[in-house]
Amino acid sequence: MKLLLHCCCAPCATAVADYFRSLQYDVTGWFFNPNIHPEEERLRRERVLSAGAPQMGLPLLPAGPGMSLADFLLVLSQSGGRRCRACYGLRLTETARQAAKNGFEAFSSTLLISPYQDVSAIAEVGSEAAERFGVQFQCPDLRDKYPESCERSRQLGLYRQNYCGCLFSQLERGERRSNRFVDKLLTRSCSDVDRTPAAR
Ligand code: SF4
Repeated sequence: MKLLLHCCCAPCATAVADYFRSLQYDVTGWFFNPNIHPEEERLRRERVLSAGAPQMGLPLLPAGPGMSLADFLLVLSQSGGRRCRACYGLRLTETARQAAKNGFEAFSSTLLISPYQDVSAIAEVGSEAAERFGVQFQCPDLRDKYPESCERSRQLGLYRQNYCGCLFSQLERGERRSNRFVDKLLTRSCSDVDRTPAAR
């Protein structure tokens, strides 16, 4: 069966492509991630996938286009507060359309390997897209393969990003880092106080 694999990035594509090939699928990858900003980062992830695909033995369709930040924010503003669901919908609906247009019988996504993604929301929007375009959506929970994808991407020397893709996820990561930094400082100053003679 021919399967079009939506690829969010090269590291996640490694183990997911292997998984589907082990089930005898004929897998082709497709990079379509207009959620990624700034644009240089989106292009960087696209380039890393194109460069790494031959080593993975993964044929690719030409990558899909990006989206202006204003247009992407408009999509999110209509999501009723379910930002990630809308973002999955944008990417998986287009993947289903590409799959149908190019004669694939099924599609899936490398998002399914990430422990940071909402698998049930992916399952919902993927199934809706599948029904709309008359192709199958393959939706295994592959999160236990995440360590394998980290190891494979290290072996292949692939760039691994440190935020999901949108500017919100970049800000949230920055916030988590500063919280950890403040916690560390507080822990250190508390133990310094504990060591003062007055505290003994
Ligand atoms: S956190 Fe990731 S999945 Fe959620 S909206 Fe941002 S880019 Fe999309």
